[in-house]
Amino acid sequence: MSADTDTSRPAPEAAAPMDFIRAMVTKDVADGLNGGRVHTRFPPEPNGYLHIGHAKAICIDFGTAEQFGGRCNLRMDDTNPSKEEVEYVDSIQEDVKWLGFNWFADVRYASDYFDACYAYAEALILAGRAFVCDLTPEQMRSHRGTLTEPGQESPFRTRSIAENLDLFRRMRAGEFPDGARVLRAKIDMTSPNIHLRDPVIYRNLRSSHHRTGDTWCLYPMYDYAHPIEDAMEGITHSLCTLEFEIHRPLYDWVLDQLPEFFVEWQRKTSGLPAGTPYARPRQTEFARLNLTYTIMSKRKLLELVKRNLVTGWNDPRMPTLSGMRRRGYTPAAIRTFCDKIGVTKYNSLTDVALLEHCLRDDLNRVALRYMAVLDPLKVVIENYPEGQVEEMDAVNNPEDAAAGSRKVPFTRELYVERADFMEDPPKKFFRLAPGREVRLRWGYLITCTGVEKDAAGQVTALRCTYDPATRGGNTPDGRKVQGTLHWVSASHGLDAEVRLYDRLFKVEQPGAVDGLDLAAELNPESLTVITAKIEPALAAVSPATPLQFERVGYFRADPATQPGRPVFNRTVTLRDSWAKAGAKKG
Ligand code: ATP
Ligand code: MG
Repeated sequence: MSADTDTSRPAPEAAAPMDFIRAMVTKDVADGLNGGRVHTRFPPEPNGYLHIGHAKAICIDFGTAEQFGGRCNLRMDDTNPSKEEVEYVDSIQEDVKWLGFNWFADVRYASDYFDACYAYAEALILAGRAFVCDLTPEQMRSHRGTLTEPGQESPFRTRSIAENLDLFRRMRAGEFPDGARVLRAKIDMTSPNIHLRDPVIYRNLRSSHHRTGDTWCLYPMYDYAHPIEDAMEGITHSLCTLEFEIHRPLYDWVLDQLPEFFVEWQRKTSGLPAGTPYARPRQTEFARLNLTYTIMSKRKLLELVKRNLVTGWNDPRMPTLSGMRRRGYTPAAIRTFCDKIGVTKYNSLTDVALLEHCLRDDLNRVALRYMAVLDPLKVVIENYPEGQVEEMDAVNNPEDAAAGSRKVPFTRELYVERADFMEDPPKKFFRLAPGREVRLRWGYLITCTGVEKDAAGQVTALRCTYDPATRGGNTPDGRKVQGTLHWVSASHGLDAEVRLYDRLFKVEQPGAVDGLDLAAELNPESLTVITAKIEPALAAVSPATPLQFERVGYFRADPATQPGRPVFNRTVTLRDSWAKAGAKKG
């Protein structure tokens, strides 16, 4: 049983609260806009692995389409040729699927539309709405003006259409070096919106593209290409994060210059059924996710990887979906979290404890319970026959009867947690102490009768007796025993490497201080590796199965685990140990 198949998804209507985007789409559908069709897209730039922030965007993009019976495209935004890598393209697809979403038709690439972008640029030139500019980058900056002062028109703005077309074609043919000339939209140098001050829409860039190779030596700018890509795919609702709000007038400008241009192209490139009416895409912005104790900038995540501050993009401490998957996060927990944080128009900082809460909540439902002792202390049951092994019945998940049961070997020598024994305990200590009786989970009741110590006074073993009438942990005489301990047979238990992960950063807002080295903000206790004793059944558990080590925490077998050499990652502790005043315990 795996988290991927077992955490059944609620119906989208049930899961999705009515945020402003869903309200808008509801109205559009009711109004019959675009024939009532809903078509969104998720457009990651393949220059890194997806992280929990992207999960929010994915849930909004795919979730909205799903809720309205629409479609959502997965589009690799590979307009920028130098940075993209195939490794990222593959991981993005894997992560979207893992979250439980399916995209419409084939994966799309911004580079699929380089021809359309180029053709539209020529059309804009012919319409007198774009020009080739020879200003140097510095001159262009000084002409641009400021937030309070208008810009100055480029002296090249008045070039004839014929000259512009000729120069632009020669830019394409590779006649000019990079940086010599650019194509600019002719909009308004006095606009209060700086993005409308004759923005650059094409520049020469000698850089091989991961898909188009050396076909192009000039590439479109993102702000110009993005609305065209949306139009090529028949997108109705282009949902993105707030930083693009100020770019929206340019998005609209691009689409509205020669609207007839897009109609035919959309029919050819969208993959939609014949006769689908033309859709003019519309952009709507929502706030990005910011999480405490977490960085989400791909540039900074890449820095962690490059400097070996983590073991890779899928290090279980990374906020990447691949890291979270390896750590033991379930897709259901992440989707529930995304529903809970909602969709708004203002930026805020979400407490990572909410994400962990959603995780614990889901894991409590689906995790299979096992016993593992992280800090073993030996127990010898003196009245238990030497060499005897009893197979005790243990329930796999008290929250899920269908999860069944398993056998756990009970023997004369066992391990319990060192912290479950105190030689001189306070009254309310309901665990082991001289003369006190506890229940061993699924086993017997035992009473501590003696303590063995080494020369330094360290407790090395406990001598105990058991009550044979209490098999399975029952008390036929009705006597009350408060404490129940987990345990592992000393002769049948196995050694396992257990990686105790904690938050990667020790400060609430890592990366917030400019110039401060990220390494200085890392939590030095983000990883502790120990050797634990595990019950034998755990050796065969696959990384697909969410686990709870009873009383200890939630765990997941690492992909590197092997029956002869089990390895487990701690997903999350049973309770929030950071809760008090944002400070780490101990
Ligand atoms: P970065 O700034 O780290 O490079 P990005 O926004 O450039 O991230 P993209 O690959 O372009 O990353 O993102 C794809 C989509 O995911 C975009 O629509 C973007 O708005 C959205 N997205 C990225 N980060 C977040 C976030 N923290 N919260 C919500 N959506 C996000
Ligand atoms: Mg981006």
